[in-house]
Amino acid sequence: MPADDLSFYAILEQYPDEASAERYFIQHRWPHGVNCPSCGSVDVLRGTQPGRRRQLWNCHGCGKQFSVTSGTIMSDTKLPLRKWLLAFHFMGASKKGMSALQLSRMLKMTYKSAWHLCHRIRATMTNDAQVFTGVVETDETYIGGRRTGRGRGYIGNKAAVQTIVRRNENGKDGQAQTIALSHEKVDGRTVGAKLRKHTIPSETVLMTDESPIYTRVGEGFSDHHTVNHKAKEYVREDWDGHLATTNTAEGLFANLKRQITGTHHHTSKKHLPKYLEEFDYKYNSRQKTDGERTAEAVRGIEGKRLNLYKPPGGGPSLFDGKAGEPRRRPKRPVKKRRSTKGVGPVPFATMPATPAPSSRPQASTAPVVPRAPAPPTSIMWGRELPRVPPKAPVTPVAGKGAPRG
Ligand SMILES: [Zn+2]
Repeated sequence: MPADDLSFYAILEQYPDEASAERYFIQHRWPHGVNCPSCGSVDVLRGTQPGRRRQLWNCHGCGKQFSVTSGTIMSDTKLPLRKWLLAFHFMGASKKGMSALQLSRMLKMTYKSAWHLCHRIRATMTNDAQVFTGVVETDETYIGGRRTGRGRGYIGNKAAVQTIVRRNENGKDGQAQTIALSHEKVDGRTVGAKLRKHTIPSETVLMTDESPIYTRVGEGFSDHHTVNHKAKEYVREDWDGHLATTNTAEGLFANLKRQITGTHHHTSKKHLPKYLEEFDYKYNSRQKTDGERTAEAVRGIEGKRLNLYKPPGGGPSLFDGKAGEPRRRPKRPVKKRRSTKGVGPVPFATMPATPAPSSRPQASTAPVVPRAPAPPTSIMWGRELPRVPPKAPVTPVAGKGAPRG
């Protein structure tokens, strides 16, 4: 079995305990011998400390002590490394992503630990520096939002997402770069900037739909073809032999939306870019096996760190609060309610207490206090309706409660 074959069965067979999982990470991190993550020195001595869970090394160059997790995304972890290995596999092998709740159930940990673990593994599956040439398709879509059917132009509802896909031609794999435009206005300037960042315009043929935001942007490219989706035109072979279509981008969005809706159900605008990077990573390595994709993610652990809370010295974190602080939710604006004074049902507190029919005999010996007269309301189905004042004057009936006022 090749060393990089990290299929689920291979993990169960080859890494049955913590020591073997640690050996896996050591072999992958330092294939040519252990070196110090602080100074790079190879003059290190393996220390023996009874009671320590992980192997330690002492560096003779800088005098620091380190383990296999030092200076990686796994730094300071208290989770067993076998759980990390399994989590890497589950995240790498799940084509439509894996939710933190699912991972917490499968690996027996709290949701918070699983969520932090997922985001740390997600941080190894990233490449936002791709530059494409050749035939490139671009399109934008809208994700989430409280109001349906309101996309571009209704700012603050949905998160806009733009994808730039190099089409699969001449035996090359199609590759994608998907970008969240969560806090940006979707116009020619925004999408143009992303296109210029991830393509070489003079060597790129651009394919878009008929949206006017691409008209000016397309002029900077070596060629620009559009298809008219409004006229139900999806593929057209042009005179120069190019196939004008954005179906590759549409297909990518179809898969992306299935991941967001089907697995995560909801992603905040703040964290959406991380999910998009994970999606791109899996899309771009779709020809590889699950084991190869997992091993590649493990190779990306070096030199990254993602704290759950903001560290004392500052730095990136998933929450903005400090460790130990309760997570504060942003306050939602309070909806102004229309005043119901004078109309509608009477508040429950003023409802007259009606004695509930009870089968139990009440053996109370307390003296009976005469009840205050009930306010003039009529009760229907538990809700009180305002009493309609009688039109004709009512003459008081002797023996019954005369209307007051
Ligand atoms: Zn050192």
